[in-house]
Amino acid sequence: MKALLICEYRQGKLLESTYELLAFADVLAAERVMLLVGTEAAAPKFDGKVYLADSGVYGEFNPDLHKRLFLDVVQKEHPDYIVFIHSPYGWDLAPRVAAALKAAQVSEIIGVKEGKFEVPSCNAKLRRLVSPRSAQVVLTIQAGAFSPQGKPAGTPQIEQVSIEAGSSRVEFIGYEAAEKKEVDLAKAEVIVSAGRGVGKKENVEVIAALARALGGELGATRPVVDAGWVEHTRQVGSSGQTVSPKLYVACGISGAIQHIAGMKKSGFIVAINKDKDAPIGEVADVLVVADVMQFIPALLARLKK
Ligand SMILES: Cc1cc2nc3c(=O)[nH]c(=O)nc-3n(C[C@H](O)[C@H](O)[C@H](O)COP(=O)(O)OP(=O)(O)OC[C@H]3O[C@@H](n4cnc5c(N)ncnc54)[C@H](O)[C@@H]3O)c2cc1C
Repeated sequence: MKALLICEYRQGKLLESTYELLAFADVLAAERVMLLVGTEAAAPKFDGKVYLADSGVYGEFNPDLHKRLFLDVVQKEHPDYIVFIHSPYGWDLAPRVAAALKAAQVSEIIGVKEGKFEVPSCNAKLRRLVSPRSAQVVLTIQAGAFSPQGKPAGTPQIEQVSIEAGSSRVEFIGYEAAEKKEVDLAKAEVIVSAGRGVGKKENVEVIAALARALGGELGATRPVVDAGWVEHTRQVGSSGQTVSPKLYVACGISGAIQHIAGMKKSGFIVAINKDKDAPIGEVADVLVVADVMQFIPALLARLKK
């Protein structure tokens, strides 16, 4: 079984998420071949073959040309799996490649069980096991779901790849910086985050009070932000901020993979949840099984003493 892993490269740099592709291929016990549209200096640290297409010629983000490059390498390598990160780059390119190959696509994989791919469904409330039927399959993996073991190491065997660039139907204009964040949660040493389990907007103040008492910042899950209980700049997760405070307190948070992806590198994680089987327990150092709106006021009273 062979996996062609598509590297993530942006603004002249290889993104760390590239190494999650290697970790995923290890889970599949697949032979690994990588493909980077970038520069040789940014090639991944990996003892194996890396196809390199020059981003000076093909651009950093040109789905039209990149698709043609990928198909060229697919012709050479005949991989069983073509694997992308579930990122804006992967979202754009994976379906183009799958359609061109008439291959099945499985998106947003968070695990592999019994030889099947585990993906979230119903807004991540449920998980499905999926088994594609086509011989070649295009996959996207959720960032944060497959952690590399140890530091990346190795020397790639670079093989240049080129195609007749010709005219492209896509022109890459440039990157646009996101609006400036009011709060930079990435710098906070303590974050206390509110999840849907806090119940209502008025209760968020209790969570914010604990954040203040611990000298930290308030964070939140996406549903809490979507409901307008907390501003978007405080969202933690794959579509919010990635944080690594010394202490992370998760209040009424289930532990969906998209949230975990943003906070699992925290030094010490305390979760308060009334469900002892909540998935947040898998990453928490301490899981307090309690009603958050009873536990936090009691904790605040203790801290005041
Ligand atoms: C493309 C995409 C991107 C996403 N990006 C993000 C992201 O960046 N960040 C993010 O957070 N989510 C993100 N999500 C949403 C994510 O899938 C989950 O839906 C979300 O994280 C769940 O938030 P929650 O834990 O607050 O709510 P829920 O999943 O509803 O969990 C609430 C938890 O509170 C507990 N609870 C209920 N009442 C109490 C109580 N009284 N006391 C104690 N515990 C209680 C429950 O047992 C439950 O575990 C994304 C989803 C998609 C599809």
